[in-house]
Amino acid sequence: MKVMKFGGTSVGKPERMLAISKLITNDDEKKIVVLSALSGTTNTLTEISNSLFKSERAVARQQIDALEQHYQNFIIKLVQSEEAYNKAKAVVAEHFEFLNIILKISYSDALNKDILAQGELLSSKLFSIFLNEQHIAHEWLPALDFMTIDAEDEPQVGTIKVKLSQLLKKYPDTTIFVTQGYICKNARGEVDNLKRGGSDYSASLIAAAIGATVCEIWTDIDGMHNNDPRIVEDTRPIEQLSFEEAAELAYFGAKILHPASIWPAQMFNIPVKLLNTMHPQAKGTLIISDAGSTGVKAVAAKDYITAIKIKSSRMLLAYGFLRKIFEVFEKYRTSIDMVTTSEVAVSVTIDNDIYLKRIIKELELYGTVEVDANQTIVSIVGNEITETENVMQKIFDAISSIPVRMVSYGGSKHNISLLIAKEDKNKALQLLNRGLFSQESEPVKDER
Ligand code: ADP
Ligand code: ASP
Ligand code: MG
Repeated sequence: MKVMKFGGTSVGKPERMLAISKLITNDDEKKIVVLSALSGTTNTLTEISNSLFKSERAVARQQIDALEQHYQNFIIKLVQSEEAYNKAKAVVAEHFEFLNIILKISYSDALNKDILAQGELLSSKLFSIFLNEQHIAHEWLPALDFMTIDAEDEPQVGTIKVKLSQLLKKYPDTTIFVTQGYICKNARGEVDNLKRGGSDYSASLIAAAIGATVCEIWTDIDGMHNNDPRIVEDTRPIEQLSFEEAAELAYFGAKILHPASIWPAQMFNIPVKLLNTMHPQAKGTLIISDAGSTGVKAVAAKDYITAIKIKSSRMLLAYGFLRKIFEVFEKYRTSIDMVTTSEVAVSVTIDNDIYLKRIIKELELYGTVEVDANQTIVSIVGNEITETENVMQKIFDAISSIPVRMVSYGGSKHNISLLIAKEDKNKALQLLNRGLFSQESEPVKDER
């Protein structure tokens, strides 16, 4: 059994739904098809939720109406028969009735999650109606019945596996299952989600839970490129990546993959393929345990980073000091990405500043605290990159004109990270592209 996940642009137009109906019927292998919301929908739902939060109900109503119109136009083009159209209309009516009801309820975090869940429910239900019209046999699976996160907001493959297998057992003869990415239930039994871009994570978790032969992530680009194609011209797709390389790239900002989407596949050694719905013949990127080459593969960047420096000439050399500092972050469930130390100070970076004020207050017990917001981590990724000849020299030669605030080298064999100001990001990515991906810095083929 395999998993095929289609992202927002891959389901965003009626003709794209037709295209993916062909892709999922290309072979006879049993499959779970994981769908995102139509492109733009989750953004609009976020805006609706923000309007409610600000008690701007009239604005929320306008946003809901505009979104509903978008779906009305979508279904007219999606299906041909009156029967299918009426079914699609009923689905749209049901979900927009819900959105109109929430206009009368006061904002809460749980309500926000309910609003955000509408996108994947709509897209998967409409796709199911479309498949029925095309006489493509399938079952629609409610992700809320099997995709769960625990009290720490972490998904557990074991729990998902038990629930999903029970559900699948009911349909022994079904080849195609269609479900929703992104949405889940939390430990309180409420609707929740796996954070933005979370459908990739759903796909990988499902692949792990069913022991899939492959987890295919179908998107709008022909695989993982060696740099951010939105910022740098002439980026190239990478044919193979190891799980470690892909995980580093995803975590450090390559938007094509959700930051946490690699570990479930890696844990169960399930190959992940990144494929292009617009060019299904393109090779894409294959992510496996041993990608068979070393050296610099790609560069990615992660924004909205906050750097925190704690200075304490008196205490830094004392043992136990770092523990105390890290405990503050642990207490506020805020993970640290980069760390550097000197004799008098320690600098760390975080990407979640929800508890920043409280963290600073507690850190001030140990020294003076300086905070720099709006930083970017630029990561240079590749297997055994730190053992690559002259790699640091190439990196620093390439970006010699850009001030670097922190460097992380040696923490992982697959990653070198630099912290720079956000405003220098585009230039840094472009310069690194020139400096690292010229002919002589091609990844070195492994001779093993
Ligand atoms: P989907 O809706 O299919 O999940 P996303 O928009 O989340 O698609 O991810 C695909 C996009 O990621 C691409 O269109 C591209 O602009 C962006 N992207 C950023 N970095 C990379 C990279 N290194 N390689 C490929 N795509 C990238
Ligand atoms: N629809 C969600 C989002 O836009 C999840 C996803 O597309 O992966 O973030
Ligand atoms: Mg995505």
